[in-house]
Amino acid sequence: MAVSSASIPPPLDVLAFGAHPDDVELCAGGTLCSLAKQGYRVGVADLTRGELGTRGTPALRAEEAARAAKIMGLTVRENMGLPDGNIANTPENRLPVLRALRTWRPHIALVGGPECRHPDHGAGARLCADACFYAGLQGIPTEDAAGAPQRPWRPQHVLHYMHLVEFDPTFVVDVTDVWEQRLEALRAFRSQFYNPRYEAKPGEPETFVSDKGFLEWIEARARTFGHRIGVRYGEPFLYRQGPVGVRDLARALEHKKRFR
Ligand SMILES: [Zn+2]
Repeated sequence: MAVSSASIPPPLDVLAFGAHPDDVELCAGGTLCSLAKQGYRVGVADLTRGELGTRGTPALRAEEAARAAKIMGLTVRENMGLPDGNIANTPENRLPVLRALRTWRPHIALVGGPECRHPDHGAGARLCADACFYAGLQGIPTEDAAGAPQRPWRPQHVLHYMHLVEFDPTFVVDVTDVWEQRLEALRAFRSQFYNPRYEAKPGEPETFVSDKGFLEWIEARARTFGHRIGVRYGEPFLYRQGPVGVRDLARALEHKKRFR
């Protein structure tokens, strides 16, 4: 069967996956803002609608996610529609991720940290990292939205962003000059994070992430990793696929610390 090219969009430079709408903003929002600002094509694929969340509704979270996408300057944001709380790494659950990878053909995929307090985060990260491999196999067929068969695609690089559990990062991205923009993207999730103007429905309690201290911690962590590379704010990433190939060593290591 011929693969139709009419409906295939231009590829993305970076596609970031999150278990729930807001995961990507929390852990890699500054990096996405910075990439989009530099003219790269950046997308987000949320695995679930976050329907098990303590606060907000799936409809409200979809609105919030769309607003955050606009603030960050994303080219596309999609929801994979997997069931929240049940994103085990199965062939069936990987299918929508394979479809997204083959549609958007990113050079780089960002996935969650390997471990977290929330089981969905680690599970989602494993599912997406594995899907990045399987999407390159010819033997697993998928179809696009129009029903046309898709070509295999494997991102060149898969990086893990950091949830709660820390790792020793391979890269720290300087997000200092987009810090306010990344906070605005987080504030778009007004039902989820600290927001004195959010009117909680009866029975909606404060949560681990809606507590004011949580946003302070987000800033403290960005300051911590920023400090490690000599800037104000930084976001850490882990590269687990072996050595990174470099053609121009001087350019690859062009970042300068103020103090050495
Ligand atoms: Zn989450």
